Amino acid sequence: MNVKIGLEIHCQLTGLKSKLFCSCSADYRGKDANANVCPICLGLPGTLPLLNKKALEYATMISLVLNCRTPGTAAFYRKNYFYPDLPKNFQITQYNAHEISSIGVDGQVEFDSKKVRIRRVQLEEDPGRLVYEGGMETSLYTLVDYNRAGVALVEIVTEPDFDDPKDVRLFLNKLASTLEHLGVCDTRLEGSVRCDVNVSLAGGRKVEIKNINSFREVEKAIMFEISRQKSLGMKGIEVRSETRHWDDARRVTIQSRVKEEEQDYRYFSEPDIPAVNFSDDLIKSLKNQMPELPDARRSRFVEQFGLSEQVAQVLINDKYLADFFEDGARLYENAREVANWIVTDLKGYTDEFDGIRSLRIKPLHIAELAKLVDQSMISRTTAKQILQEIVKSGEMPSEVAKKLNVAQISDRQALIDVIDSVFETEKSAVKDALQNEKTVNFLLGKVMQTTGGRADPKLALELIRKKLASIT
Ligand SMILES: [Zn+2]
Repeated sequence: MNVKIGLEIHCQLTGLKSKLFCSCSADYRGKDANANVCPICLGLPGTLPLLNKKALEYATMISLVLNCRTPGTAAFYRKNYFYPDLPKNFQITQYNAHEISSIGVDGQVEFDSKKVRIRRVQLEEDPGRLVYEGGMETSLYTLVDYNRAGVALVEIVTEPDFDDPKDVRLFLNKLASTLEHLGVCDTRLEGSVRCDVNVSLAGGRKVEIKNINSFREVEKAIMFEISRQKSLGMKGIEVRSETRHWDDARRVTIQSRVKEEEQDYRYFSEPDIPAVNFSDDLIKSLKNQMPELPDARRSRFVEQFGLSEQVAQVLINDKYLADFFEDGARLYENAREVANWIVTDLKGYTDEFDGIRSLRIKPLHIAELAKLVDQSMISRTTAKQILQEIVKSGEMPSEVAKKLNVAQISDRQALIDVIDSVFETEKSAVKDALQNEKTVNFLLGKVMQTTGGRADPKLALELIRKKLASIT
């Protein structure tokens, strides 16, 4: 069945120090309710907004990396609606119609050898937050907190080019990593990225799912909505054009308020903020300031460190993981080994513990672990056990190895002593090994058993062969 999915993504510019039009802190999280406000973001009469220059630059950078066209002039508009989270009764935002354009239009992004068109990128202010004690359904009253009101928000709208929820996830991964690399948005912060999704089946009516509060939930919400619409279709019930919201606790979409039409908002030009001209110099200087972005970084990882495309891709999907790898590779020259430990082993824990940031492990730990294995100080299996300890305790691998008494025995004399005693007790096996080279593995097994698996198998085998040769 033909599915069409379009996205409307809101990301806060958490990299800023202040809000979009006043000097209140952009970091409103964890503060007492209504403690991060001033007359401007409360929209009191007589106050004037002043545009945050850095916010304009960040939004333009986002628009450039999404390959959008940037207009010569950007203007701001008032979007009028009455809702308690909006102290002024209008939101300062941008507008796209009648030759007026927001900071970016007509962009395009490639991801996983697919493409999605970007309809627009615009800069606007975040509303406040409504708090429903004990949940929206059961709360008897609503509290309002304006700490977030006026925080700079960039809205990115895609064309409905997706036909698979999995592609949406891949695209959002890439977008999140790009925002992280630009340093404009910490996508891990609660509520810093929110997504609205349009879903329609086979040319049917469009359903909008509002305010999915994390990129990780988006794929699940779409999958639920597709199967909901499919089952309506099978029962012969028409899908209504409506707005729903995602209940992440119950994992379902629920019908919410009737959708306002765009003209209900009565947009008009914001008279208090002069239009901004984009000079070629500004665009050029922003392009020059642009840091290394995920695609370029992946190619460099392949070339500079000899990583496979696949491993490099997993690393650059999360800037923190990519930085972690590069720090580790600086500490120990076998970069491929460092990368493998991160991608195949550590990544398993990050899924379990909700991100590598929550673990006590640092690049230094992985560098040392890779080195200990390379030097045959510990076996790979032991290293995995040690890793399990490090992620919890933050101790160095060599310390854990000492504590667990698992350091590999690669001391020649120690191994020779063990082999001598094995030859003493396994006389008939020795006789077999002298006649048939293949049975030598039995003796190696005995040596490994005697040492509790700690013998360096390569060296042990070499010493066993030597001793056999000396007997004949
Ligand atoms: Zn303020």
